[in-house]
Amino acid sequence: MMFEATRQAGLRRLEAFLPNAGQAYQARRNFDVPVSGVSGLSPWIRHRLLTEDEILRRILEDHTPREAQSFVQEVFWRGYFKGWLQQRPSVWQSYKVGRNRARERAGGDYLAAIEGRTGIDCFDHWSRQLITEGYLHNHARMWFASIWIFTLRLPWQLGADFFLTHLRDGDPASNTLSWRWVAGLHTKGKHYLASAENIARFTEGRFNPVGQLATDAMPLTEPAEHPFIPFVPPAISAPGPHLRLLTEEDCGAGLTPLPQEAGVLAVVSPLSSDFAQAAICRAATEQGGEICIGHLWSEAILRAAEAAGVAQVVVDFTPVGPVADGLDRARVRLAQAGIRVQQVLRPYDRRVWPHADKGFFKLKKQIPKLLTSLGIMDG
Ligand SMILES: Cc1cc2nc3c(=O)[nH]c(=O)nc-3n(C[C@H](O)[C@H](O)[C@H](O)COP(=O)(O)OP(=O)(O)OC[C@H]3O[C@@H](n4cnc5c(N)ncnc54)[C@H](O)[C@@H]3O)c2cc1C
Repeated sequence: MMFEATRQAGLRRLEAFLPNAGQAYQARRNFDVPVSGVSGLSPWIRHRLLTEDEILRRILEDHTPREAQSFVQEVFWRGYFKGWLQQRPSVWQSYKVGRNRARERAGGDYLAAIEGRTGIDCFDHWSRQLITEGYLHNHARMWFASIWIFTLRLPWQLGADFFLTHLRDGDPASNTLSWRWVAGLHTKGKHYLASAENIARFTEGRFNPVGQLATDAMPLTEPAEHPFIPFVPPAISAPGPHLRLLTEEDCGAGLTPLPQEAGVLAVVSPLSSDFAQAAICRAATEQGGEICIGHLWSEAILRAAEAAGVAQVVVDFTPVGPVADGLDRARVRLAQAGIRVQQVLRPYDRRVWPHADKGFFKLKKQIPKLLTSLGIMDG
């Protein structure tokens, strides 16, 4: 798949996908075949070049809720994972600790996996596809993660890191929690074991790794308990004169500038995907803003705030993940310099995340009410 980091390209992809969002999606979404039944919209959604609510609205203009229920639910899975991680932030912290430890010990078997040299054809193909295309079909992600964990017996955190580095939709919540789900850590004791038969069926015979995959592995366990911390949304308040800060978490689709915006600055990590970097740089340029690509965000923010003559920075909410980590580090220095940071949360997240405190089923039951309260469907 090709991914151009512009809103226009995302809208074109959405319009092209529309006829397939109903029964066809339900029937074909699990097949990882050259002409696939999925939308390929995830990079645009991930960085909010397109928003969940506008996609749901457009889909439900052309399909009944019953026809489109499968696709609608998948879109809500994203909000579920975002809200879930937000309320169990220690999962992200412990992932980073585990990843750093595993990196120190990584050896030849890890290199063979990421270079596509394991001898398991499908796995090696997906490894190369991940690097060259920055995208894998959902079923391929599940098979890949399962083979990584249970057949190759590599640390799940290194696999999640490999995905996060190369996926154009790489997302700390969807990625970390999906890897944990495959491992049996998200739904404790329930893991996902890929089988040759399932791979052969849903790749329509392109791959059939018979005799090559683990068939009786146990789910992973972990000593840590991850406490639930209910999400407290930031208060809605009208900011005074401020610097608008853009990050790759939200390229601002559908947002109008708040009153008293005195300048715009985008902060970008050089480690982010090319899609993320291009998307946020374009968003900043379109708004006549400055761009800082690097790790020293606090210095860039201080300079831009000073140039704009303001002591307040407004940023669209940065959920748990590397961007929030970077801003947390910058915030200490900014506070010392008397600069306040205010986060703005989108109505979609404000409504969806609180329902992500248990399993997806609980949120799924709320979908009709959420669609009404978001103004996507009549009550
Ligand atoms: C191990 C693993 C790692 C993953 N890592 C990521 C990731 O880093 N970023 C990411 O966005 N998704 C991730 N996913 C979820 C899913 O694979 C992708 O969202 C989906 O493949 C994107 O392709 P699409 O846009 O064609 O999906 P479609 O099937 O067309 O779905 C439409 C949209 O719904 C959302 N969605 C669909 N399925 C899921 C799902 N299972 N979980 C959460 N949201 C979903 C996405 O925003 C997607 O764009 C991961 C899944 C697994 C098993």
